[in-house]
Amino acid sequence: MSKNYRFETLQIHAGQKPDPVTKATGIPIYLSNAFTFDDADQAKNIFALEEGGYFYSRLSNPTVDALQQRMAALDGGVGAVAFASGTAAIMGLIMTVCETGDEIIAANNLYGGTIGSLSGTMAGMGFVSHFVNPRDLKAMEALINDKTKIIFVESVGNPNGDMLDFDAISALCKKYGILFVVDNTTPTSYLFRPIEHGADLVVYSTTKYIAGHGNVMGGIIVDSGQFDWHNERYPLFTNPDKAYHDIVYADLNEAAFCTKAVAKTLRDLGGCMSPFNAYLTLLGLETLSLRMDKHVENSRKIAQFLNENEAVEWVSYAELEGHESHELCQKYFPKGFGGLFTFGVKGGLEGGKTVINHIQLFTHVTNFADSRSLLTHPASTTHAQMSEEERLAGGVQQGTIRISVGLENIEDLIADLQQAFDKIQ
Ligand SMILES: *Cc1c(COP(=O)(O)O)cnc(C)c1O
Repeated sequence: MSKNYRFETLQIHAGQKPDPVTKATGIPIYLSNAFTFDDADQAKNIFALEEGGYFYSRLSNPTVDALQQRMAALDGGVGAVAFASGTAAIMGLIMTVCETGDEIIAANNLYGGTIGSLSGTMAGMGFVSHFVNPRDLKAMEALINDKTKIIFVESVGNPNGDMLDFDAISALCKKYGILFVVDNTTPTSYLFRPIEHGADLVVYSTTKYIAGHGNVMGGIIVDSGQFDWHNERYPLFTNPDKAYHDIVYADLNEAAFCTKAVAKTLRDLGGCMSPFNAYLTLLGLETLSLRMDKHVENSRKIAQFLNENEAVEWVSYAELEGHESHELCQKYFPKGFGGLFTFGVKGGLEGGKTVINHIQLFTHVTNFADSRSLLTHPASTTHAQMSEEERLAGGVQQGTIRISVGLENIEDLIADLQQAFDKIQ
């Protein structure tokens, strides 16, 4: 596929040609576990990683491969590896890069599930995570030592939509030769391309806007191809691997990360994406730009409506003047901020509950990035078990409502919010 094609063209065409046998233009769902070989020598070469090719769908599959190539093209990367969920992709990334005892510096405003895995199961297995305010570069730098393998941030903080100075974090990573990883789930590559700001690996929960319709789980890692793995910090890449005739992954250059992620992580831990899920994700991807533009347009109107509404105490939407990330948003997100943000209603906990109990068109769930508009009241759900202090540190007040603006008619959405606000005493 031509490198010169633009986003809207790549989201429909990259990674796929008409099927050579049937001439089908839609992507076939290759629901086959195994793929046969031409002869014994070809089988041997594929097993030894000396030749590309499909043989077993835990490692590679043509439908999943089309998605991997398309995602890499959209992000400006050299390759990608898909997983069963965003969580599987993030933990797979860590397993590909780190050994027991290695350290990760992670932003303290990551997706809650990621913080839970890193501080729970992953810590239990000996992968050490330090959580830090990602805007405090001095604190981040102070945590770096010989065991640090990854600096991990999200392009948009959850749930408050705060942003980072990506160029500054990238410079810090380059100074120490540390891998810079960005979870870009919330804006997607349409609104923000982390590789252009120094990210070495970009990870997604495709469950969200990429698939886009709230119906299919998935995750993917995109490799920029820019990290030099010939770096003594990463012995898993510079030491020979006995499992594959003493291959040195770093010597594969641009293919180093993806080869190891497939040949070791997917092979040994499983967690591969189903071809059927890859198919639905590819289908969603074809309209990503159209959907994101509409999510942005509807969100701007709703943020404006909320900002002027007397039932609303505050709105945290980075495009609004006065938001702490306003300048960063203008610098890094010229196409718009996206569809996920928070606001606070009057009346605290009761006010928040009243809105949730009276919405009709919005759906009350803890997901986001659906074609449907969604609302969450963190103080009574995701953050209910926390102390007041912990909740406030996570940026969640009693009356905070998280909104994921969907693709419905804007007047219908605004009318639904207004009738729910009218119920607050
Ligand atoms: C949802 C989400 C994840 C986890 O993805 P799953 O597909 O649910 O496993 C990770 N990071 C971010 C930013 C998310 O929103």
